[in-house]
Amino acid sequence: MSNIQKQTDVILIGGGVMSATLGSLLKELAPEWEIKVFEKLANAGEESSNEWNNAGTGHSALCELNYTSEKSDGSIDISKAIKINEQFQVSLQFWSYLVNCKLIDNPHDFIMPLPHMSMVQGDQNVAFLKKRFEALSKNPLFQGMEYSDDPAKLMEWIPLIMQDRPSNDSIAATKIDYGTDVNFGALTRMLFDHLKTKNVDIKYKHSVDNVKRASDGSWELKVRNVDTGSVERHNAKFVFIGGGGGSLHLLQKSGIPEGKHIGGFPVSGYFMVCNNPEVVAQHHGKVYGKAKVGAPPMSVPHLDTRFIDNKKSLLFGPFAGFSPKFLKTGSMFDLITSVKPNNVLTMLAAGAKEMALTKYLIQQVMLSKEQRMEELREFIPNAKSEDWDLVVAGQRVQVIKDTAEGGKGTLQFGTEVVSASDGSIAALLGASPGASTAVHVMLEVINKCFPQRMKEWEPKIKEMIPSYGESLMENTELLHEIQTSTAETLGLSKKKELVYS
Ligand SMILES: Cc1cc2nc3c(=O)[nH]c(=O)nc-3n(C[C@H](O)[C@H](O)[C@H](O)COP(=O)(O)OP(=O)(O)OC[C@H]3O[C@@H](n4cnc5c(N)ncnc54)[C@H](O)[C@@H]3O)c2cc1C
Repeated sequence: MSNIQKQTDVILIGGGVMSATLGSLLKELAPEWEIKVFEKLANAGEESSNEWNNAGTGHSALCELNYTSEKSDGSIDISKAIKINEQFQVSLQFWSYLVNCKLIDNPHDFIMPLPHMSMVQGDQNVAFLKKRFEALSKNPLFQGMEYSDDPAKLMEWIPLIMQDRPSNDSIAATKIDYGTDVNFGALTRMLFDHLKTKNVDIKYKHSVDNVKRASDGSWELKVRNVDTGSVERHNAKFVFIGGGGGSLHLLQKSGIPEGKHIGGFPVSGYFMVCNNPEVVAQHHGKVYGKAKVGAPPMSVPHLDTRFIDNKKSLLFGPFAGFSPKFLKTGSMFDLITSVKPNNVLTMLAAGAKEMALTKYLIQQVMLSKEQRMEELREFIPNAKSEDWDLVVAGQRVQVIKDTAEGGKGTLQFGTEVVSASDGSIAALLGASPGASTAVHVMLEVINKCFPQRMKEWEPKIKEMIPSYGESLMENTELLHEIQTSTAETLGLSKKKELVYS
């Protein structure tokens, strides 16, 4: 049985951190708007946003080496690191606003201060790290970063990594104390709990099976109750497709021209989780290494302290892998059914270009536990197999599109907002830097889809995000103010101690 329900202002598809963030922003900007959410699983934050499905790094380029590349003249390009750091400051400000307004109770339920470190081995990598440190530490966004190649200092910072390491290994690290571990699953659930109190209608176990344009320009959604199989039709003036890996199929169903010639390339992931509390206790920080030659940027190895369910854990990974599913709970037919007449050439071109990557991912999937342990031993030389278990992480779907620089079928590693020219529908594709920059990306959705409201909404946006529209790198006074206030509100107190030049 299908029936048309009354028209809603906004429908958010998917119960991940992106829909949660967009819903929370819109409820502050237009409290009178009616919002509905459809999530096909039983709870919010069960796919990529879940705490066990991602690495929980508050990405602000403090430790991720892939955000700073070496130019042909040997200098370090820090422009991407600056961009990502500024985007994370936007998230911190919005989360602080939610805490200050008592919309979120205890920030430590989702965010914890944690040193972010980069660690490299081998003379060439050590030279790169030193240059990176020199370039970043002069920048106000990265003040407080320390560098060391002194084994005694490194033993203080990363004892688990230094113990039993041959003394002739050249090794260096940088450390910055005000990094974060973010439990994006908890954050997502908190945001949806808050939205429920604001009368947002959240329907779990409801899958959106089709999205089509109605004659009045609004969008009609076919929504299936996954328990009963019954079908309802819902109508909205604005639809956000926040289905994570499920977004591409829904975007294709919408038929908007902006969604054509785009494909998706799934990359799965695994973490190793330490089950020995004595080992867990010996590490405190997120330590990012360098990606292996030929590895995609999202498989940079890192050894992370995590705070999940009020407990300290230790994770290593991610190991990449290949699966044709677009969601962890997706279907083996996801990849093949995403190939359409309008993107087949783009997909074929990418297939030809990315043979090496596909081969790499398949090899990664085939790794035995002992082979994965060998990779871990590059970080923890004396790691014991019995202390570590393998867990399956979330699924990412990288965007494939035709670009001027890369040509036909170019694989993208960032996130992309795809929206209709009239702003009535938008989808988020891709997964990196991901949840950390959710607030920045959802503001981009708002900007693209509601340009006529931006002037009216700007004062409220500035109240929530004081740096909105400003460059923090250039306005160091504002940067200092924001870093101090967000650190206090979110309990990330180390930032206060910084001295700004
Ligand atoms: C291994 C890994 C490590 C990562 N590490 C980090 C990190 O350290 N830091 C960071 O910031 N980001 C990280 N990310 C990225 C981050 O997890 C994602 O960018 C973010 O969670 C995406 O949120 P989302 O809301 O778009 O998608 P999701 O959280 O996947 O939510 C999408 C939701 O939509 C639902 N859905 C899909 N289709 C439909 C449909 N048709 N009808 C109804 N519901 C539907 C799904 O069930 C799901 O609940 C990582 C990702 C992975 C996979």
